[in-house]
Amino acid sequence: MKGVGPAKESILVNELGIRTLEDLLYYFPFRYVDRSKIYSIGEVAEEMPFVQLKGKLSNLQTLGTGSSTRLSVQLIDDAAQIELIWFAGIKWVREKLVYGKEYIVFGRPTLFNGRYSISHPEIEMVDPDKEVLTNIKLQPFYNSSEKLKRKGLDSKGIAKIIHSVVSRINGDLIENLPPILIHQYNFLSREAAIKAIHFPEDLLVLENARKRLKFEELFFIQLLLLKQKQLRIEKVQGYVFSKVGHLFNGFYANQLPFLLTEAQKKVVREIRADMATGKQMNRLLQGDVGSGKTLVALLGMLLALDNGFQACIMAPTEILAQQHFVSINSFLHGMDIKIDLLTGSTKTKKRREIHAELMSGALQILVGTHALIEDSVRFNKLGLAVIDEQHRFGVAQRAKLWKKELLLPHVLVMTATPIPRTLAMTLYGDLDYSVIDELPPGRKSIKTSHFYDKDRLKVFGFMRRQIAEGRQVYVVYPLIKESESLDLKDLEDGYESIVRDFPRPKYQVSILHGKMKAADKEFEMKRFVKGETQIMVSTTVIEVGVNVANASVMVIENAERFGLSQLHQLRGRVGRGADQSFCLLMSSYKLTSDGKKRLQTMVQTTDGFEIAEVDLKLRGPGDMYGTQQSGILDLKIADISKDEKILKFAREKAIQLLEIDPNLSLAENRQTSIAIQKLQNSKQNWIEIS
Ligand code: ADP
Ligand code: MG
Repeated sequence: MKGVGPAKESILVNELGIRTLEDLLYYFPFRYVDRSKIYSIGEVAEEMPFVQLKGKLSNLQTLGTGSSTRLSVQLIDDAAQIELIWFAGIKWVREKLVYGKEYIVFGRPTLFNGRYSISHPEIEMVDPDKEVLTNIKLQPFYNSSEKLKRKGLDSKGIAKIIHSVVSRINGDLIENLPPILIHQYNFLSREAAIKAIHFPEDLLVLENARKRLKFEELFFIQLLLLKQKQLRIEKVQGYVFSKVGHLFNGFYANQLPFLLTEAQKKVVREIRADMATGKQMNRLLQGDVGSGKTLVALLGMLLALDNGFQACIMAPTEILAQQHFVSINSFLHGMDIKIDLLTGSTKTKKRREIHAELMSGALQILVGTHALIEDSVRFNKLGLAVIDEQHRFGVAQRAKLWKKELLLPHVLVMTATPIPRTLAMTLYGDLDYSVIDELPPGRKSIKTSHFYDKDRLKVFGFMRRQIAEGRQVYVVYPLIKESESLDLKDLEDGYESIVRDFPRPKYQVSILHGKMKAADKEFEMKRFVKGETQIMVSTTVIEVGVNVANASVMVIENAERFGLSQLHQLRGRVGRGADQSFCLLMSSYKLTSDGKKRLQTMVQTTDGFEIAEVDLKLRGPGDMYGTQQSGILDLKIADISKDEKILKFAREKAIQLLEIDPNLSLAENRQTSIAIQKLQNSKQNWIEIS
């Protein structure tokens, strides 16, 4: 390519993975600036995602010290001014800026204490001669990096080489969507879309190009996932659990202390159907905190036992494993079933006994932690493996559990971190997927309110009244050590102030944080569980799933520092007993708009899925659930937090296409088939359960 010598070539390969012209054409702009529109500073408003402004600079100054040093300068036009701020690269920026010259500034305005500012704007001296692509109204912006910039590949440099390719293609890009879809839905051709995505004539054609390319991307992913699922169903044999025997039926008839919810029944039916087919079940079960997943898993395990198999359930922490063990034992009380618990702290003698009984098949249900995946653990005939709190276990770890088995056992993975449907569809499109979307009846919804720090005395008063009624209280802090840059209240300060306001011996206060010794943690936790202390001051180390039914108040300090799913998990620690429960969110006055939205969401709803949707919108998918590593969300143009409709449509069309042409062997689908092959080669590590 003209304009791309060896230096640029190697940086394109190494930094962006661009090896071919096609790769280059699929390096899309992340935004466009309408260079015909310049706002006056007085017009800046909160709902503007980005603005382009023009003005002169004044009052350049360096503020703050140490890690909070920042550079501040005012941009002034005829009527108003706005602050521009840099937290990094200060020296470089400072040297570049000149008073008295006109600048074009581009960035995202934020409102703080009633005034607008723009952090790290793009700023450029007005110089009409330097404009590279002057006749282009919508200027594309490409992601670049320091390394790329040093080789002349800043956004404009990238635009230039892409422009030289785009201007040369003329009927060269082969259509890769099935022609029938193009006709039916009036999609732009591939070539027209690629041209328009880089250098759109106007907003309308840009919109059409985006629609086409988003569809293309999601459609291929769905096709690939669906084909993988097809393959798994065809190839992977599973045990057939044909019998519903006396354990399942006996439990259902005699032991069940309450009626199953409709949602639980539905999932039990789905699991039963799976396990009867002769194919291996690979099912993800989602259900909010307290929705009763354990019981559903237990019914599945009884089915395994009825068919002469063993079952196990693996939990991420010792406390959780113990709780499962206790509750499963009480559910199965009086039934002739051999259950045991294996964790890191199981004594050697007991451990040997468990190993032997597992091998002989005498032990039917094993509950445990990571200890279950040790090499010495061998089952006689493992039929169902249940994994609780899925996100804490890696794929490889899980696979270890059954690598020694003849056939793969059925697998049920449970998670209480609600994943929005769109995300689940993308991440787990090749798995079976169940949801318990209903809580058992009679649960009182937790009342949530937001307080500012100055209302602390009110909050303490409320805590006192609840404790007087016999309840217990959690107070949770985001950090252990005071951080220099962030004005966070230190856990220990908080503990001392609570001890001052809740003096001994009338009140007893526990403290728990990650830096404590395991034995001390256990001691403090036990005191709280037994009701010997009324208040538990802690960091987020209080475990997911820990069950203290008598604790009815959750106070979350600096709540604005927590993410939504974490707030939701913490709130789930209360509301486990018969009493009305409360969650009090404490925050300072200084709230970002995201922070405000998070707290409002928590006050407005207790629905984990609704919260997950908001979370996805606020944070974007990359941050959530450690999904970055999976590579599956490494999307070029679609955004699953915003493109739910296109995703659903793409999935629908993919299903239809595979019904007509399961192997994509028809001539008209040849290019689609090639595209999917390519995609498959580039995504080796897609998430899978077993
Ligand atoms: P999670 O889905 O968070 O793991 P659990 O399985 O721990 O929830 O169930 C929470 C509580 O609800 C347990 O005490 C359990 O016995 C109870 N429970 C489960 N199903 C029902 C139901 N259908 N009706 C009433 N209580 C139920
Ligand atoms: Mg649970």
